[in-house]
Amino acid sequence: MNDFDEQSFKFLTENSADMIFRCDFTPKFTYVSPSSVRLLGKTPEEFLGKHPSSAVLAEDLGTIRKHIEELRQRGSEPSNVAVRFFHHNGSLVWMEVSARMIEDPKTGEPAEMILVARDITERKRLEDQLLAMAMTDSLTGLSNRRAFNAELERHWSHVLKESSQVSLVLLDIDHFKQFNDEYGHLAGDDCLRVVGAGVNGAVRPGDVVARYGGEEIAIILPETGPTDAVAVAESVRAAIEGLNIPHAGNPDGGNRVTASLGVATALARAGGMVRMPESLVLSADKALYMAKSEGRNCVRKVMMMAAPNQTTERKADPQQSA
Ligand code: GH3
Ligand code: MG
Ligand code: MG
Repeated sequence: MNDFDEQSFKFLTENSADMIFRCDFTPKFTYVSPSSVRLLGKTPEEFLGKHPSSAVLAEDLGTIRKHIEELRQRGSEPSNVAVRFFHHNGSLVWMEVSARMIEDPKTGEPAEMILVARDITERKRLEDQLLAMAMTDSLTGLSNRRAFNAELERHWSHVLKESSQVSLVLLDIDHFKQFNDEYGHLAGDDCLRVVGAGVNGAVRPGDVVARYGGEEIAIILPETGPTDAVAVAESVRAAIEGLNIPHAGNPDGGNRVTASLGVATALARAGGMVRMPESLVLSADKALYMAKSEGRNCVRKVMMMAAPNQTTERKADPQQSA
């Protein structure tokens, strides 16, 4: 490298927004650009000769290991991975690392990796925020229907795989149309918010509360059999009644806001036939209908047998795909 090249190189690596480093396949850092000071508050010397585990969150080391293996197999094709580096001040910095494998010119064997790392912490924060927004109901702050579907699928699969049980509660506010008619839609919205918070406060840690539809709330009760599920539903019913929100159009509920609740429990047992999580929703809906027709402000339950050791993966419809 002549003087000019060396100066330009130094200038670039010191001022680059990115951190540039080289690693052998031990893997250990063999070069780190001075921009590490700006990005991670650490001098290059703090990295040299050390394994990535000294610089990267333990949770992300598996990602790195897998990535290095892929890089060896794919040759010098560059590829990206996102991992969290430790900053000198103790915080974590999300870095997108773009890696390229360099071969030994004589043997053609993988010799080292050239890596360029870019701070993507802000991008990750925005992504997390967007994801949370996409999964949250804006009126009540509860999980939304999309999040509910994903959670139900997850718990249902677990039940089939482990031959265990899960319960679902569907809650519907009584005579809510009349509440809106009497007090106005905005008061109706406030009522939904307060009821949502009341439900959240009455369930157990680990139970999943979601706004299922207009004035309907769904609660997934993982690993819960019928007796405990009815007990949770009853606490929720009592909590809503205890909010004492006036509702002149609900005389049977003491002119307060009340709700009816349907509970369905799926037990995965040999001989069980039900395979799809939607069946649990239909069963809870059936129980809710019973609660409505048997006087409202009460809890009703149904049971169903799920088919154990089945996956819930949707198979393509052969007629559609033909
Ligand atoms: P039931 O006891 O049989 O459940 O009677 P209901 O009046 O509650 O039942 P229905 O399904 O006929 O009415 C539901 C009402 O909920 C109608 C709709 O205007 C109201 N609703 C749904 N979503 C919202 C919302 O986001 N805000 C408000 N204020 N009202 C809503
Ligand atoms: Mg309804
Ligand atoms: Mg209703």
